[in-house]
Amino acid sequence: MPELPEVEYTARQLRSSVVGATLRETQVFWERTIGRPHLPEFLAEIAGRRIEGVRRRGKFLLLDLSGDLFLSIHRRMTGNFLLLPPGWEIDTALRESDPVAWKTRGPHFHPPVPTDISYSHKTDYCRVCFVLADGHHLLFTDPRKFGRIDLWPSAQEEVIFANLGPEPLSETFTIECFTQALAGRRTGIKQTLLDQNVVAGIGNIYADEALYYASIHPARRVDSLAASEIRLLHEAIIAVLMLGIEHGGTSFNDYRDLWGQAGQNYNYVRVYHQEGKPCNRCNTLIERIVIAQRSTHFCPRCQNASTSVETSFVK
Ligand SMILES: [Zn+2]
Repeated sequence: MPELPEVEYTARQLRSSVVGATLRETQVFWERTIGRPHLPEFLAEIAGRRIEGVRRRGKFLLLDLSGDLFLSIHRRMTGNFLLLPPGWEIDTALRESDPVAWKTRGPHFHPPVPTDISYSHKTDYCRVCFVLADGHHLLFTDPRKFGRIDLWPSAQEEVIFANLGPEPLSETFTIECFTQALAGRRTGIKQTLLDQNVVAGIGNIYADEALYYASIHPARRVDSLAASEIRLLHEAIIAVLMLGIEHGGTSFNDYRDLWGQAGQNYNYVRVYHQEGKPCNRCNTLIERIVIAQRSTHFCPRCQNASTSVETSFVK
């Protein structure tokens, strides 16, 4: 699932390529991708709107539209954006010829030059296509169909995101802010980091990586963490998220950037999906356990449940 770095990377790419563009036409191939309002109203409301800005809040991508509206997009498991240059044609013949295949696969897209296959296999599973006035096609592809696109009045933004925790890369995410967010919690630290109300944007990949860098066992109870451990974890969260953005995100399976390219951060992860491989610091084999129904990866030596941060860093 795309987390903060993947969404931020896409937001930056979109900001430099679609701000100022007008939504000429929007085609929806899987109705339930549109959460609100109902589809006919959604289509009528966004027609002819200008994209005025692109932002991110937690794992939500926000497209500001003219007329004080914004689209909020949550990619969930497999949602991706892909920007096709002008000249591509949408082919919906499958809808009639094979309705069952159509529901899974969606439309075909034909390149302007038949030999240009650079994007062709990445246009599958298109659920929504925004046709821009300058001829670009902005595709929302989503094999698993869990992604959602909502249209909201700008004035409602604060209410919609009222329960979302602080942005970990903003100046407001101070050590005091993080300590306060963790105060009084008796849950496990991994589970707590996944809670979007505590810190916005962290998911399974970056929670595992941050806990490794801070040498904290993912099952440790939050109220057992020393102030020095919280300080290290705070630094680690910021560091792993910034590295993730720098490397264009982590493409463990589905995530791709706006041009269909895989992010490179998977080459730099230390524990995520590295079970059975030696720890970079101590050579102990990385283990996998399940916490809160999520795969959790850690070094049993560096992140020993009873080892304090100070001693584990000496190793
Ligand atoms: Zn280790």
